[in-house]
Amino acid sequence: MKEVRTRFAPSPTGLLHIGGFRSALYAWLLARHHGGKFLLRIEDTDQERRVPGAIQYILDGFRWFGMEIDEGPTEQQIQALDGEQIAPNLSGEKGEGGPYGPYVQSLRLTRYQEIAEQLIEAGVAFRCDCTPEMLQEERLAQQARKEVPGYSGYCRTRNVSRDTKHVVRFKMPDKAKVVMQDGIRGRIEWEKIPLRDPVLLKSDGFPTYHLAVVVDDHDMEISHVMRGEEWIPSAPLHLMLYDALGWERPTFCHLPVVLGSDGKKLSKRHGSTSWSSFQDEGYLPEALLNFIARIGWSPGEGDEQEIFSREELIEKFSLDHVNASSGVFEYTKLSWMNGVYLRQLSPKRFFEESERFLAAEGLSFSFEELEPLLPLIQERVKLLTEVPALLTFLSEDHFTREIDQIVTKKVSAAKAGGILAQVYEKFGEIEELRADSIEPHLVAVAEALGVKSGAVLLTTRIAVLGKKATPPLFESLELLGKERVRSRLEEAIPLVQALEREAAVG
Ligand code: GLU
Repeated sequence: MKEVRTRFAPSPTGLLHIGGFRSALYAWLLARHHGGKFLLRIEDTDQERRVPGAIQYILDGFRWFGMEIDEGPTEQQIQALDGEQIAPNLSGEKGEGGPYGPYVQSLRLTRYQEIAEQLIEAGVAFRCDCTPEMLQEERLAQQARKEVPGYSGYCRTRNVSRDTKHVVRFKMPDKAKVVMQDGIRGRIEWEKIPLRDPVLLKSDGFPTYHLAVVVDDHDMEISHVMRGEEWIPSAPLHLMLYDALGWERPTFCHLPVVLGSDGKKLSKRHGSTSWSSFQDEGYLPEALLNFIARIGWSPGEGDEQEIFSREELIEKFSLDHVNASSGVFEYTKLSWMNGVYLRQLSPKRFFEESERFLAAEGLSFSFEELEPLLPLIQERVKLLTEVPALLTFLSEDHFTREIDQIVTKKVSAAKAGGILAQVYEKFGEIEELRADSIEPHLVAVAEALGVKSGAVLLTTRIAVLGKKATPPLFESLELLGKERVRSRLEEAIPLVQALEREAAVG
């Protein structure tokens, strides 16, 4: 079998959308599964739509997900192409960035021009010097006659000189039956091609997508063209070009779109769609990778397995289990999955991943400081953004109490004050607060006061940790240490007394 070579071919026109990213992931998985190669090709033929920084953004995404690229643009090219200014005379040397480079379309213009000439010579393409004004006029006239607007074929038989400003168009046959064996959808057949003499080469010497994609996929020996289903209508033209040039067709695999839960195409309305916003929201790359792979792919008919390591995805991925129908991006499932992955992390990695979220809240701890608590925090969060709130109690600067919560139906402010005073006393008698031996002391206080031990736990929790939902109480008390715990209890007593006075007045 031929080497499996797949590519991701983004246009650097903005943020990498998760739907596009899924196409890249499937292409990467297919290449890895077969021990082949995964390429990145920059399709920057539309210079007007280029967004500075877009290429680096894509590369950073791949790095975050841990998806290596085997062949692609060089660092120097990326820097030049990604700047504010259009790259000054960057020349593309053959073989740059890999054996088939350069992997940037704007650096391959002469190749497209050469192929356009070849197509003209073969009689399947022609030069057209119709001006935009003429084409506009033609369109208006067609509309007035209630015809479907499109190029009339005016220059097909004119011998337009190569010295006049012109485009090169494909001579679309009036009748053409095109058949394709799609790697995901099976056989697709066209009787009539909806494109009227489409432009292959623009008057500025740049190719259109149609010409460039065919030439590059051929030249780069791509075995599987994996791309979004929005390209299906263009596929017959691409197939005709392969055939006209006598080139072997790759396997086209048109991937269905990713939908939001309301059945509409996934967009910002549904939630995050770019990789960096998921990162900012506290998702782990491996969880997101697993989740995205699983939208529209399953390891086998009816197989319910959800959690796959990267290695397992590579091992099990195959095109025959990619769905031909659209997949739904379920954010709740993603956060569940992220929780699963967070729990699997070593405390060290969990700490490292949490650090930037802690820093964003002005919190900073050493790993050693947090180590005893980390596994307990891991149990409680689905997103890394939830970590800081569970640790603010450790920092005097950020610690605040939801003191009102201390009063419940069963525990009045007066009673809470009594509990705190007793716990303060009790802890004074103990040498050291140790998580595994705190409970009996609190139970003893409960018994002495004739209240439930749950009430003592809750009152102590709010006084010392600030709120009801916290990491486990005993471990937290141990971590704070006896002195800090007692001083917080002492501090809380007047706050509770104030509540008591308020209650009396009210
Ligand atoms: N440059 C095209 C896009 O960004 C790529 C389509 C393809 O993969 O062939 O949509």
